[in-house]
Amino acid sequence: MATTIDYDCIIIGAGFAGLRALIETRRRGLSAKLIEAGSDVGGTWHWNRYPGARTDSESWVYCFSFDEDLLQDWVWPERYPDRSAMQRYLSHVADRFDLRRDIEFGTRVERAVRDDDTNTWTVECDAETTLRCTFLIPAVGPLSAAYEPPFPGLESFRGERYLTARWPEEEVDVSGKRVAVVGTGATGVQLIPQLAQTAGHLTVFQRTPNYVMPARNCPIDPAQDKAIKADYPAIWEQVRGQVFGFPMNPAGRVFSDVDENEARRVLERGWEIGGFRFLFETFDDLLVDQRCNDVASEFVRNKIRAIVRDRDTAELLAPKNHPLGSKRPPLGHYYYETYNRANVSLVDVSTDPIEQITETGLRLADGSVHDVDVLIFATGFDAATGALTAIDIRGSEGRSLREVWADGARTHLGIAVTGFPNMFMLGGPGFPFGNFPPTTEVAVEWAADAIEHLRESGHDVMEADVEAMDAWSRTLQEIVDATVLGQGEAVNTWFLGANVPGKAHVPLFYLGGIPGYFAELQDSVDRGYSGFTFSRTVGNKPESARV
Ligand code: NAP
Repeated sequence: MATTIDYDCIIIGAGFAGLRALIETRRRGLSAKLIEAGSDVGGTWHWNRYPGARTDSESWVYCFSFDEDLLQDWVWPERYPDRSAMQRYLSHVADRFDLRRDIEFGTRVERAVRDDDTNTWTVECDAETTLRCTFLIPAVGPLSAAYEPPFPGLESFRGERYLTARWPEEEVDVSGKRVAVVGTGATGVQLIPQLAQTAGHLTVFQRTPNYVMPARNCPIDPAQDKAIKADYPAIWEQVRGQVFGFPMNPAGRVFSDVDENEARRVLERGWEIGGFRFLFETFDDLLVDQRCNDVASEFVRNKIRAIVRDRDTAELLAPKNHPLGSKRPPLGHYYYETYNRANVSLVDVSTDPIEQITETGLRLADGSVHDVDVLIFATGFDAATGALTAIDIRGSEGRSLREVWADGARTHLGIAVTGFPNMFMLGGPGFPFGNFPPTTEVAVEWAADAIEHLRESGHDVMEADVEAMDAWSRTLQEIVDATVLGQGEAVNTWFLGANVPGKAHVPLFYLGGIPGYFAELQDSVDRGYSGFTFSRTVGNKPESARV
């Protein structure tokens, strides 16, 4: 008896990757359904509603590049769009390409089970919906499973408690209240200056200081908008050639090219321009040459000392035990300046960690107590794997992805896993870290090409080889070993799976650069999808999908 499938593809998640996958599968004549837990499109931009949320990538390249008319029509208001601008954009994309008719909102995928005999994935959702498909495309985001440390006493707290990545839709009013923020990563750094404006008193609990570079946000005026639009072909070429997918050319200079005074001038210029340009338009060897990194790290420490008036606070904010770039540096919007306000104080929890949440606040290891009305955790994510293992994904012979990854996640190209045929992850472990939308677009097109190739070749099953997965894992590790990443106290970074207790420590991202990653994808195609085995289902063939 033939097994009926409902769709060729089921896509999970309506963020950048999922929306793009829906567009591309349709273009290739595949039937597809997208399942989304949230009530609207947006992915990370739907859930991260905390005050101050905005991109750290420049707007005109933090978007889709595949449609020239979309690029030309859309007007970005600022250098870094805020969360509502991002939502407007993704909502516009959904409407413009009529995507909503194929999206099931408010539905969470709980299980996805592979059946090799019928070559199908059965996807079970919380709304008691069960759908069958041939290709499973999880696009659940690398930074979407929020992590809240399991502090003892958490539930006993009687005040208001929030997790930044699950911020409520209704406004949170902190005016006049005593507020605690735990966490000073990219999220905390955006949130803290916003809350400080109205909180009665804001106490920031910092475990590891970060090198926060000024974002220097500004409106985009019509002339600049016009110039960007006229230059898009060149801009996308830059993006695809830049290590983290940003519209920047190499600095064309290494540290040894300049003397001390010139080095200072170069860094000052980078600091004034702001954003990640400080890292990438100053010295091309900043992330690999120790001397260059030392000078740049000290430069940032001195900036902190110059901005923050209280000397003790400045010293606490200045990172000393990890090099610049060894953790993902946040971009600040008057972050350090915020510590000059009388209603803001900083508490170091590196040596005296938070030991207990009480009914009225936090107690640290030294016994000190901080009573607050509002407790906010900006404590990050179970990166790369968390959103995938939250779903009970079972591959061939019932093998669970959670179990397979228990000793460390491994993939081929960040897209496929041996034992999980016809599953194409977008943004899973081993995917490159960088400007996500343009990177994802290339991966989506690669996956769609692969499916087309599979069908044209008369096969219906595509699976990553274990040797290819091993080689990819070695590549990730070798790259980490060759850079400043994870050095010093940054060894605890989420890049390496080290921020969540009990999680296996392995590199979770490909850090060999976006061009390197694209070259790997292309190389696999050129060599006939090397690293993958194509086969035919024996047994019970599925009937074609309902379109
Ligand atoms: P994060 O970088 O992991 O920061 C989490 C913070 O919580 C860190 O300061 C961490 O300290 C602290 N923390 C965790 N557990 C703690 C504990 N038990 N006690 C005290 N402090 C604790 O997470 P994030 O700030 O959400 O950023 C994650 C990534 O998401 C970013 O790097 C970025 O890629 C992305 N993101 C992007 C944007 C943007 O583009 N605009 C905005 C937000 C986030 P330690 O450092 O000591 O671990």
